[in-house]
Amino acid sequence: LIVMGIESSCDETGVGIVAWDPAAPDGPVRLLADEVASSVAEHARYGGVVPEVASRAHLEAMVPTMRRALAAAGIEKPDAIAVTIGPGLAGALLVGVAAAKAYALAWDVPLYAVNHLGGHVAVDTLEHGPMPPCIALLVSGGHTHLLRVSDLGEPIEELGTTVDDAAGEAFDKVARLLGLGYPGGPAIDRLADGGDLAAIAFPRGMTGPRDARYDFSFSGLKTAVARYVEGCERRGEPVPMADVAASFQEAVADVLTMKAIRACRDFDVSTLVLGGGATANSRIRSLAQERCDAEGITLRVPKPRLCTDNGVMIATLGAHVIAGGAPPSPLTVATDPGMSVQISAY
Ligand code: ATP
Ligand code: MG
Ligand code: FE
Repeated sequence: LIVMGIESSCDETGVGIVAWDPAAPDGPVRLLADEVASSVAEHARYGGVVPEVASRAHLEAMVPTMRRALAAAGIEKPDAIAVTIGPGLAGALLVGVAAAKAYALAWDVPLYAVNHLGGHVAVDTLEHGPMPPCIALLVSGGHTHLLRVSDLGEPIEELGTTVDDAAGEAFDKVARLLGLGYPGGPAIDRLADGGDLAAIAFPRGMTGPRDARYDFSFSGLKTAVARYVEGCERRGEPVPMADVAASFQEAVADVLTMKAIRACRDFDVSTLVLGGGATANSRIRSLAQERCDAEGITLRVPKPRLCTDNGVMIATLGAHVIAGGAPPSPLTVATDPGMSVQISAY
């Protein structure tokens, strides 16, 4: 079974193709094509994703990206199409869903409408094989979710999410404050490399005894960084950029990994999966590894290319959904910009 995945929920136009073979010795999913076109450069001057710009970029990129994927896989058409219907930007989602419906109709293949967040978790099976019940931590520019996954074909339980900024968004906002440009995550990561992560005691949001166990908050941290920088400027002192970056990054990594491990312990789960573009962060990775090792938890992290938005993750989730026996979605299926992670497919 060959499944094509179409992704357009944010600023990446992704078309991925995978082959599903449950009898294959090295895992059921095999990669055939992974084509991504990103409009990230067009958003840089605004310091964040501009929905209308993203939608137009998807319109221009969709068909060429699709053609490249088909050529790379060496096929004329897939056996099924999976498409992200949410959560994401309304106009951006419409482009991918319209394309998926048109191709499904033209090729006479079934359409499966799936959840973007489930895709971030499912993509790990491509590299690391079948997934036992796990806790998943998704961190990107638009999302921060702590999830409990029992089976990829089944609804996912959301344990917690951010009450304000997403983790990647916090990186982007702090980078902007430090004059580092957009996207800010990679720049802060590089700068932090030469800094002292214990130099400044930035706050750990929502870690008090009365706070929700699995929710996150990063806006207080962002404000604390702003106050610190203002303080330096007021006193006429140079801002210790590398120390600020390292201490900020440590505060984010500390809270994310602490709550992820807490969830593993609470639910007696011994596998933690990371996903989303911000898991490219070197400190989030190393601290997660350190804490998982200490707890006897297996950490699974897809390679960076598969952590950011792409079509392969949607194709992979689609394959799991099909294998789970879900019926195809009607061609009238609508986008769902605020889609809950509890729904893996329509
Ligand atoms: P979505 O939220 O729908 O998944 P997105 O485009 O916002 O989409 P991704 O493309 O998955 O998210 O990831 C981009 C985000 O990841 C940006 O916020 C970026 O700053 C952050 N990021 C990328 N590399 C790093 C890094 N090394 N450290 C921290 N953050 C990073
Ligand atoms: Mg992106
Ligand atoms: Fe994403």
